[in-house]
Amino acid sequence: MKRKKPAHPILVTRSSLPPLEEYTEMLKPLWDSAWLTNMGQYHKRFAVLLKEYLQTPNLELFVNGHMALELLLQAMDLSGEVITTPFSFASTTHAIVRNGLTPVFCDINAADYTIDVNKLETLITDRTSAIVPVHVYGNICDVERIEEIAGRHGLKVIYDAAHTFGETYDGRGVGTFGDASMFSFHATKVFHSIEGGAAVFRDPELAPVLYELKNFGITDYEKVDSVGTNGKMNEFQAAMGICNLRYVDGEIRKRKELAMQYRRRLGGVEGIRLCPENPRVRYNYAYMPVVFDGYRKDRDRIFAELAAYDIHARKYFYPCINNFDCYKGRFSEADTPVAAEISRKVLTLPIYADLEPEIVDMICDIILE
Ligand SMILES: *Cc1c(COP(=O)(O)O)cnc(C)c1O
Repeated sequence: MKRKKPAHPILVTRSSLPPLEEYTEMLKPLWDSAWLTNMGQYHKRFAVLLKEYLQTPNLELFVNGHMALELLLQAMDLSGEVITTPFSFASTTHAIVRNGLTPVFCDINAADYTIDVNKLETLITDRTSAIVPVHVYGNICDVERIEEIAGRHGLKVIYDAAHTFGETYDGRGVGTFGDASMFSFHATKVFHSIEGGAAVFRDPELAPVLYELKNFGITDYEKVDSVGTNGKMNEFQAAMGICNLRYVDGEIRKRKELAMQYRRRLGGVEGIRLCPENPRVRYNYAYMPVVFDGYRKDRDRIFAELAAYDIHARKYFYPCINNFDCYKGRFSEADTPVAAEISRKVLTLPIYADLEPEIVDMICDIILE
């Protein structure tokens, strides 16, 4: 090896944490009240702050993002088939299947890896009830075309917005598109509450339904109205979220600098593809996906070369969901050729607020040498 390894292993992300005193300060009232979960004071405060930050009037908190999505689908009372993409985290399709619905996989477009709106309509049948597109890597889907197609066919649109916390499109909060969106506040995301998530939605009448579903369907001490589950966010999570929200804008600014640095070094190199930047979007720089397409070294070789320096990029998303063992025999990756190809060529590079610019240079040197 020509150069020294970094002083510590570099992972693809690193959870941001508020100053410890700020968090411990918030624990004192919890010890006084002994109210630790079940929609306590921090749960209420966090929801109010998020509504403002995300520019969404209707929001419900959950123990994690997956539960927000799963219960959103349940609350919408869907049936039959739901169109989604296989180029996402397991959660997206699992939420559909766990609701007894049939996922139908639409391919992604080769530019920004979101759902291919030109193929979407051919998959709609009289059994289709909804579309669950993914704003993958922070790239916002073609929300206008999706709205137009869904409107024409009377379909619900529920976005997996796990990657787009705080993003805007033409200045409008990304969560205001479609009927609903799910955000994830998992520790590895741009913004987190340790684990956590939120559902945001257009119809205010969904609020009591979601509240009930995350609390076992209980509506009163002696009344249970629906087969809900336990999806409640606890007070320790909400307290972390409140603390982190104070810092998230600064974190995103630092991520932007690093993303620019990657783009300066890797942009325009033959065989290396970066996502186009849409000037109408305010990005959160959650991920740094790079597609190696005809580059002199393939994705797996670069992954291994970085790993030799204790730098751990991720093959994210690989494999495609329609190629998971748990869905074997039901779906085929061959039906979504672009997703299949990108999943074999993409690598997400380390990016997080406190990543040293020297490490970004080192990663680029290793890729380019
Ligand atoms: C993280 C993530 C989820 C699930 O969120 P959790 O908070 O981990 O449950 C769903 N979809 C995508 C695309 C994600 O990245």
